[in-house]
Formats: sequence, C-alpha cells, structure tokens
Amino acid sequence: MNTIDYLRISVIDRCNFRCSYCMPEDVSLSYLPPQAVLSDRELLFLVQEVFLPLGINKFRITGGEPLLRHRIVDLIRAIAQLPKVGDLSLTTNGYFLSELATPLYQAGLRRLNISLDSLDPQIFAQITGRDRWQQVWQGILAAYEVGFSPLKLNVVVMPHVNEHEVLDLAALTLNRPWHVRFIEFMPIGNTARFESEGWVTSADLRTKLRDRFGLSEGQCLGNGPADVFQIPGALGTVGFISQMSECFCDRCNRLRLSADGWLRPCLLNESGQVNLRDALRQGTDATALQQIVRDLITAKTPINFKERDRGTQSTYSRTMSQIGG
Ligand code: SAM
Ligand code: SF4
Repeated sequence: MNTIDYLRISVIDRCNFRCSYCMPEDVSLSYLPPQAVLSDRELLFLVQEVFLPLGINKFRITGGEPLLRHRIVDLIRAIAQLPKVGDLSLTTNGYFLSELATPLYQAGLRRLNISLDSLDPQIFAQITGRDRWQQVWQGILAAYEVGFSPLKLNVVVMPHVNEHEVLDLAALTLNRPWHVRFIEFMPIGNTARFESEGWVTSADLRTKLRDRFGLSEGQCLGNGPADVFQIPGALGTVGFISQMSECFCDRCNRLRLSADGWLRPCLLNESGQVNLRDALRQGTDATALQQIVRDLITAKTPINFKERDRGTQSTYSRTMSQIGG
C-alpha cells in the first residue's frame, strides 16, 4: 500500500471554457446549486482537522475552473497559512492569471499547472470552445514573471487536432524553466470523441521527441504519475502522463475531493466514494471523519485503466470538471 499524502480538492464544478475533451459544448451538464458546494469554512475544517492529522499534507486546488470561485485568493491564503501544509498547488486554464497571478503569489501559492493545448490561437479556440489564446498566454507570462515555480503546462493530446504541435510545445522548455506535460486523452467527458478518434500514446510522442531533440530513454526524472525527461540543454522538462497506456496505480498517492464533498479513492473508481459534506453537516466530529477517510484509504485498490471497459457515461458518470481533474 502506498502512502496517501496528496489530495486534489475541487472547489467548483463550473468553468468558463468548454474544452472538447472535458465539457464539450453539445453535452449539457447540470451544475451544483451553491448550497451543495463545500463552503470555505467546511473545506478549511476538513483540511485542518481531518486530512492534515492523517498525514495528507499536499494539496492541489482544481475544478472546474478554480479561479472562478468567489474569494478564491482568500481561500488559498487560508490553506497556505495552515501549519503542516507541506505543498499547495493549483491547476487552472490560465484565463484569470493576468489579473490573479500576483494576488495568488502574495497569498502563498507557489506552484501552478496551466492548461495550454495549443500555440495556435485557432486550434486553441477549436479545443477550448473560446477564442482566448492571447489572454491565456498573457496569464502564463504573468505567472512566470511573478515567480511561480515550478510552472507546468498541461497539454491533452487530441488525435488530428493538436497532435502535430507536440514538438513546438516541447520546444517551450528550451529557453524557459517550464515543464510541459503531455496527457493522454481519457474517456471521461467526451466519450463519443474518444470512441471515434482514440488517443495518442505517450510512447508515440516520446519517439517523436527523441527523433527531433535526442531525449535519452533512461533519463526519467520524476517519481509522480509523469515520466519526466529533459531535452539536452533545455532549461525546463517534458513529461508524459500515460494513464491510458501505462497504469501507474502502483505509484498512486492521492485522493480526490469533489466540490460537493465526495471523497474518491480513484479517478476511475466511483464505488468506494464517501460524502464528507453530508457527514460533516450531520454533525460527525473530526475523529469520526478521520476514521471514514482511513477506511476509504484501506479499501483503495489498484485499477488498470488500460484493461477496463473503455469509457461509457455509465462507467465514468462524471466529467473531470465534476470530479476535480
Ligand atoms: N480548469 C482547469 C484546467 O483546465 O486546467 C482545472 C480543471 S481540469 C478538469 C484539470 C485537468 O484535467 C486539465 O489539465 C485537463 O486538461 C484535464 N482533463 C480534463 N478532461 C480530460 C480528459 N478527458 N482526458 C485527459 N485530461 C483531461
Ligand atoms: Fe474547463 Fe479545465 Fe475542463 Fe477545460 S479542462 S473545460 S478549462 S475544467
């Protein structure tokens, strides 16, 4: 059993983008009513009184688009100030960073993952459903200038859409200490597209990058879900998150908390989830909540995504935006 010390916290299920792999325009989603979402006070209680005492001290704030949440900077500051928080990071589509990079940094956040699926504004618009490449690029530059480090750029590789851009995206790491991570497209959110177009394997991308830049095969730097490499002479790194082709359950150290309080042992395993919000609102005390989380961790079993039934809405009934990607 791995040590579970990492929690991804979704603070909102809504988003201002409609990425074709996540919340495609033609899929209607029902959003949580405000009262269903964990409040700042409830979230802070869970972090301070339930997760930290269990040794879960690394947190990633995500969504939906987390920067859409009301008073997100205050929430980040409150979490960052809690004693024993070992690591705090945030995943965003970057749209609000021009405005929020500085306040977030001042609030104590240091690590950012920003989604950037294309360097071409038209392809970006095609993927995200929004003509906002410039704002996102400006947001990335703002975050870099403010001093966020490491600064990671997430790319979901879609066959026939942005697949041809991987070399240019990897080249972003040559002159800046940025970490570009290529993520295999999963059958969550847009299963129809997944079934019709499939996904691009990390192995294919690695071959392309090796041929062009001379990545050395044995030079893996990471110990998380990403296999991380460095182009010779580059300031940054390139990573591959290969949950479709290379099961990494044996390295998994995480749990996920959705905006409405569902604690999941696994992105793909809805069967073991528990609702901490309901337990909390029914008056369950911190000790009993800790035991609920302990039991869930004990029951956490490896799942090989590759060998699972690949993606139907019934198998994966929530999108990444709803689970907290
Ligand atoms: N809105 C923020 C963003 O886009 O970075 C945070 C939430 S988003 C759900 C978190 C991550 O999930 C993003 O990096 C996104 O690319 C990834 N994601 C969403 N749907 C996916 C899918 N079907 N396959 C692979 N990655 C996906
Ligand atoms: Fe929004 Fe992020 Fe999903 Fe794109 S991947 S639709 S930005 S939640």
